[in-house]
Amino acid sequence: MELTYEQMLDRVYTQIPKKSLEKERFEFPRVESFIQGPKTYVKNFVQLIKVMRREDPKDLLKFLTKESAAPAKQEGERLMIVGKFTEKQINDWFNRFLEEFVLCKECGKPDTHYIEHNGVRQLKCEACGAISPLRRG
Ligand SMILES: [Zn+2]
Repeated sequence: MELTYEQMLDRVYTQIPKKSLEKERFEFPRVESFIQGPKTYVKNFVQLIKVMRREDPKDLLKFLTKESAAPAKQEGERLMIVGKFTEKQINDWFNRFLEEFVLCKECGKPDTHYIEHNGVRQLKCEACGAISPLRRG
């Protein structure tokens, strides 16, 4: 049986015991999206923002609009992005957002919120108390 490169990667990845990858890695659910006409929708958007504790997705929408170079907005439970994007692209954007705007730079936990200091927004971790600078926004 012939495997594509991606299938081989999947296979290698699943063979590595999860524990050895990183201890206590934050498990982010997979973004589930589909394309309808000229637009792409994320079905589980509300679940994703709850896990990230960003129920007010203003920053995320701004980020996604920038990454996709297309308007992104919430429509009910779903996210709508104008244009056709693959699930992989959208997963990459969400992961980048997590790294930059959600996960604590010290302990890697997602229990964070923004604080403002001298007009500069920073990420404050509720788990370990660390305050990290945000690269942008
Ligand atoms: Zn922390």
